[in-house]
Amino acid sequence: MHSKDNLTMEFSSGSTVPKFKKKREVIDKRERAIFNTLDKIDRSKEVDLCYVLDCTGSMKSHIAAAKQCILQVTEHIKHTNPCIKIRVGFCGYRDHCDNPRIQIFDFTNSYEKFCQNLATLKASGGGDPPEDVLGGLNASITQLSWNNGTRVLFHVGDSPPHGRRFNNLDDNYPNGDPYGLTAESVLEKMRSERILYFFGKVTEFTNEMIQVFRSIIGDFPIFDLVGGDPIQLINKFIKATTSSILTSVSLTSTIGCRTSSLYSPRQKIIIDPNVPDWNSLSSQTGETLSYHIPNSLDELKDQKFFNKEKLYSRKFSFKIASQPFSSGSEKCAYFAISANIGPPETMVMKKYIQNTSPDIFKKYLEAIEVSAVTNYLSKRFNLIAKRKKILPINFLRANLVRVIIDSRIHYYILEKELRDVEFKRFNTNSGIITLSRPILEAFAHFTYEHTKGYLVVCDLQGVEFDDKFLLTDPAIHCIDYSRFGHTNLGSKGIEMCFLANHTCNEVCKKLGLELRLN
Ligand SMILES: [Zn+2]
Repeated sequence: MHSKDNLTMEFSSGSTVPKFKKKREVIDKRERAIFNTLDKIDRSKEVDLCYVLDCTGSMKSHIAAAKQCILQVTEHIKHTNPCIKIRVGFCGYRDHCDNPRIQIFDFTNSYEKFCQNLATLKASGGGDPPEDVLGGLNASITQLSWNNGTRVLFHVGDSPPHGRRFNNLDDNYPNGDPYGLTAESVLEKMRSERILYFFGKVTEFTNEMIQVFRSIIGDFPIFDLVGGDPIQLINKFIKATTSSILTSVSLTSTIGCRTSSLYSPRQKIIIDPNVPDWNSLSSQTGETLSYHIPNSLDELKDQKFFNKEKLYSRKFSFKIASQPFSSGSEKCAYFAISANIGPPETMVMKKYIQNTSPDIFKKYLEAIEVSAVTNYLSKRFNLIAKRKKILPINFLRANLVRVIIDSRIHYYILEKELRDVEFKRFNTNSGIITLSRPILEAFAHFTYEHTKGYLVVCDLQGVEFDDKFLLTDPAIHCIDYSRFGHTNLGSKGIEMCFLANHTCNEVCKKLGLELRLN
């Protein structure tokens, strides 16, 4: 164990402000931050969804599919995420020789009206192979009444825009849009209106367009909407539209993420997806620091149990890749192997990207406290689940690594590596259910009831095996908001991010939880 001074130095402030006043200021600041975050989450659950569709002759089946899917999409979302409200609008475009060239139906929350509007549309015209894509996108951005917190533009088309930059086809406007619109000007407007872009791909003719768009606004999701069987096409539309909405709401409501920064270039981090040649790397020696897993609810709720003096340490030797293999909004992850005696174990080491904050050590401690608490709760859950023949839920254990390199202290979160598995996000810390799994929603409910309303475990993500779930990086809303980091939104967070969106399912019933309906 290192000396206490080493562990506490990160907290020393050196300020002369009276302690109680300082404490009050910290609490006020935290409460304001929680209020603002919850307000943002609330607004993000109101969605403007606009279809921008190429309406020339070849797109008839896609117009029909857009019309047919909307009721099923909204029903599905009402069922999985009753807190999300959607307005839907439409912008159809053709080519410069066509009349009408652009057709707009402004946002409405009447899905019947939306379907009636679309029934009046005719797929016709087109002229030369490229179409007025930029005109259509521009009109959808500037002529619809966008005002909800989450703004989704779902573009579907089978032809590229005009201009040699986008196509090598027979083009009446090889120099681009005759009105002077450019991809840059249109997409900048989209970005400044905080509209998120999704594309449904029908043919290979739009490949250059995708590349140009990505060079301007960064990566965006692309869905396969190749036609053929109309029923299959409607199903593809349902999946793509639902995914666009849920992805967007998760993004705009993610705690700690500003909507305006969604399209801003990230801090440049060089990613290397390959496992390094371990023989070429030298090993480092530091220590792992961990909390014990609590034995009871009282210990879980006792702040003293997670005092940093209670950390226990172990010597730890390891090798770590020089570049991360992936990077999220908060952390980046590195391949690593243990270099202790015995066969090397493959691991992942994660580091916070904003590394300079004076509170950084506290952030790492919060992460391992969350790990100890969720491990306790999953154990309790699994005891009951086993009796009721419900699949178990396990969390990867996260430990803190502390190592001195070039006389600077470095911290990492250490986890076992999950290799060759599909990683899924099931719900978010703002309460949005992105992939509905009754067991996981029931687990969240269980954590609420087992702790007698003290906390809820959310942000469930990880791997779904045939016989278990293995999760990582959860978040916790807890009535004591001094714990579990900035994603903990206190009792209001429990209310708005869990209770308001949870409807009990068959697993909640099996577990004997008090039934809740929304
Ligand atoms: Zn329930």
